[in-house]
Amino acid sequence: MLAQRLDATLQSLKNAAQAAHRPVPRLLAVSKTQSATAVASLASAGQHAFGENYVQEAQAKTRALESLGLEWHMIGHLQSNKADIAAGIFDWVQTVDRLKLVTALARSRPPQRQPLNILIQVNIDDQASKHGCRPGEVEALARAIEGEPRLALRGLMAIPTPHADIELRRIAFQEMATLFQQLAARHPAVDTLSMGMSDDFPLAIAEGATMVRIGTALFGPRAP
Ligand SMILES: *Cc1c(COP(=O)(O)O)cnc(C)c1O
Repeated sequence: MLAQRLDATLQSLKNAAQAAHRPVPRLLAVSKTQSATAVASLASAGQHAFGENYVQEAQAKTRALESLGLEWHMIGHLQSNKADIAAGIFDWVQTVDRLKLVTALARSRPPQRQPLNILIQVNIDDQASKHGCRPGEVEALARAIEGEPRLALRGLMAIPTPHADIELRRIAFQEMATLFQQLAARHPAVDTLSMGMSDDFPLAIAEGATMVRIGTALFGPRAP
């Protein structure tokens, strides 16, 4: 069942990429609220990278599945007082949006682990949300991250407003792609633009996403 959904999702990514003449993006399987058993079965079908939104939930799952050697991404809002735990359990943090978090993650990344991969979360169009930095703050954050040997700057992440009007979503994805190109021109290690979810990934891929974050289309609807 999960294996079939994975195959179908990977095929949709390929189709969307081909239609838009873009490279096929990486698939991040969003496993928030899903059991460790469900993650393990998707892993046995070949999926390697998983995204979690809550530090405590991720702590339990990463511990239970440690022997599988999976790659774990933090994609939820990260409070500074949880940064020490997050720095120990994740391979990537996609939601860095302030200097305080940069310093806290760098300080807490265990020395025996690879540098922690970092995406800067940009608040591209949501006036109401306090999460994500403004586009004008990206470069200062990027420099701070590059100044930390325990962190590796990899790119940008966004959760645009889910406008019913597809053209409004497209504009947000295009603005992210422009910011991403500017960042990559100044920072050669930058290679990841994380955007697009179950209901809008073809559009995100058409506009240049290199990683899509998909939950519902893979695991089915989440329990409320
Ligand atoms: C839950 C979540 C997703 C996945 O959403 P689906 O609509 O279930 O694919 C992607 N990104 C973030 C940041 C999320 O919180």
